[in-house]
Amino acid sequence: MDKKLCLNILAYHNVAGKSRLSYTSVSRDLFEKHLNLLLKSGLQFFFESEVYKGEFLYNHNKVLVTFDDGYEGLFYHVLPLIGKFRFSPLVFVPAGFIGKKNYWDFSPFGHLKHLTRDMLIDMAKNGFVIGAHSISHTDLRRCEKKVLHAEICDSKKLLEDIIGKEVYAFAYPFGLYDRRVMEVVKSCGYKYAFATSNGIKGNPYAIERALVYFIDINPLFLLKYPECFLFRVRNRLISTLSSLTPLYKRFIYRHGKG
Ligand SMILES: [Zn+2]
Repeated sequence: MDKKLCLNILAYHNVAGKSRLSYTSVSRDLFEKHLNLLLKSGLQFFFESEVYKGEFLYNHNKVLVTFDDGYEGLFYHVLPLIGKFRFSPLVFVPAGFIGKKNYWDFSPFGHLKHLTRDMLIDMAKNGFVIGAHSISHTDLRRCEKKVLHAEICDSKKLLEDIIGKEVYAFAYPFGLYDRRVMEVVKSCGYKYAFATSNGIKGNPYAIERALVYFIDINPLFLLKYPECFLFRVRNRLISTLSSLTPLYKRFIYRHGKG
């Protein structure tokens, strides 16, 4: 059986208990089902040392599970699964929102809580790889030079001070980046930067990921479909919608101010 996937890096947001579901969350039951499906099809997950070496860039017989935004649901619902499934998830944390709610997001159904400092320390000791996701979760393409540098370099330093380990991976907020943003990520000392549907093949600073949502009962079907065609179309649509969030926010802010 061919185990190889067209996309081997999954991008989730939150994992939640039944009462805390939102459009960016998958339930713990569904998340566990996904992991079981991947294992049953003969795939394995990457460990911490393999993540550091960037093996996910070329080994498509293993899967890297990533989470954007660092919600506290990961502490309650994913940390307990680390031993059972033997995997090292990579979680991207907006360093200015540690222990706070996600007020950076346009969220008509209520705001989710981000991981606290203590949770991050615990998770970094117990199998999670912690990556940075800027300070304020903003569209980095619109930041002027000094702010851009602070968003990218200071988030690395802040997280490293908390967990006592190197932070070498970055994810672009809303998946939005350009050449200038990418160059700053490199200059701040990151080894890898993750995009969403807008990755560039072979570029470790624009890594493509498959966005997974609660509608994905069996993501394997999409991930094995020739060339990931369906997944890429779906990914592109969702990325476009999510990249509109900063626009919504600017619109609401302007009109709220009257
Ligand atoms: Zn994000």
